[in-house]
Amino acid sequence: MEIVIILAAVISVVLALLLWGASVILYVEEDPRLQGVIDLLPNQNCGLCGNPGCKAMAEAILNEDAKLSQCKPGDQEMREDIRDYLAESPNEAGEFVKVKM
Ligand code: SF4
Repeated sequence: MEIVIILAAVISVVLALLLWGASVILYVEEDPRLQGVIDLLPNQNCGLCGNPGCKAMAEAILNEDAKLSQCKPGDQEMREDIRDYLAESPNEAGEFVKVKM
């Protein structure tokens, strides 16, 4: 009985170390502007923009793959706010997103 408990504890520690190692190896640094764009979107996660949610739309905007007008619940003020935010927020290389209205 004691050997089973010890074996379970050893297996648990090994699996925890494997998960930790995978999280370190597979870590992908997120664009720090992503949350800023998400915060400016309506966050209804309706999918009307053709993306599976507002986070995916924000990623598409940062990748210059989407127009702000694709967000149907968003109004002109939202589009101008996102445009202004990105006009003041270059990436680490100093490059700006070409925002499509
Ligand atoms: S249409 Fe706008 S509110 Fe709806 S998921 Fe896309 S970005 Fe979010």
